[in-house]
Amino acid sequence: MTHEDFKKLVHEYLRGLLTDDQRRELEQHAAECPSCEKMMSACQELTCREFVDFLHAYIDMELPAKRATVFDRHLAVCPDCESYVDSYRRTMSLSTEAMKTLGKREIPEDLVRAILDARKPS
Ligand SMILES: [Zn+2]
Ligand SMILES: [Zn+2]
Repeated sequence: MTHEDFKKLVHEYLRGLLTDDQRRELEQHAAECPSCEKMMSACQELTCREFVDFLHAYIDMELPAKRATVFDRHLAVCPDCESYVDSYRRTMSLSTEAMKTLGKREIPEDLVRAILDARKPS
């Protein structure tokens, strides 16, 4: 199993979607590969779903420092969430620009949610 395979499968692994064979291969790779092992434990500590659900608080730095560290760790090893954060930041800055043009200061929360829901990693 390659790192790429591992990255692709780790989320399904954590959701319990893999076959026994796949699971064994994944566990074996994690045992031999420190960076993939780190990724797996970060995703175990905080699932991608939780990451996405609390992303708003994370970006706005409303999380307690200890909790934010868990998010940092997850983000450092999870390409899915990294690209989600990217698109979140882009969405926010685009919306902010648009609102400025319209002369409004606040972005309607439901607008942001609608955009983000469309992009959520599955
Ligand atoms: Zn690896
Ligand atoms: Zn993730």
